[in-house]
Amino acid sequence: MEMKKILLATNNNHKVEEIQAILKDLGYEVLARDQVYDGNFDVDENADTLAGNALLKAQALRNLVSESYMVLADDTGLFVDALDGAPGVHSARYAGDAHDDEANKKKLLKELEDVSEEKRTARFKTVMALVQAGKDPVFIEGILEGKIAEEERGSSGFGYDPLFIPDGYSLSLGQMNPEEKNRISHRHNALIKLAEYLKELE
Ligand code: IMP
Repeated sequence: MEMKKILLATNNNHKVEEIQAILKDLGYEVLARDQVYDGNFDVDENADTLAGNALLKAQALRNLVSESYMVLADDTGLFVDALDGAPGVHSARYAGDAHDDEANKKKLLKELEDVSEEKRTARFKTVMALVQAGKDPVFIEGILEGKIAEEERGSSGFGYDPLFIPDGYSLSLGQMNPEEKNRISHRHNALIKLAEYLKELE
């Protein structure tokens, strides 16, 4: 039987590998965007929710490829309680349009300069949108609770990882190896739910 194909609206290798690892046993072939479509793909992520932006990306790619592909897109934000949920949906461009991880981390530390350890609670939230021709989109959410460290710790992972200490751990995500992070991450939690949904489609 031909394998079903899920096309990701991303070329981020971290995400592609993580998603492939979780879905491989379910009989799905997971493809990065540029394996199927390597033209221009510049979606203006201007929705004001993670779900809205994930849907914009998934639908944009769905319209560019054959109907046989299910397209999956994700959008992630870091929600910090002491900052009323900022940077949230704007996490990628917190310090400006350059999507500069270093500048984003620096700004976050500055904003939390006077905030005590117990008030530095935060969560990563991922929303995935799965779009199939002729069907309503499906949304799946994954969360990881934790705290923002007082300085960067470790250099593994990407984005805000060196600043995020998951609940129940003393290491930041930037100090964990990828396998450890992938076992607990917000994206992993969303993917477990996605796998359950896909199983039910059988
Ligand atoms: P995106 O929606 O995955 O593009 O991510 C939005 C922002 O959150 C970017 O600044 C990413 O670097 C950051 N981000 C997304 N996922 C993670 C993660 O797993 N760890 C740390 N930062 C992340």
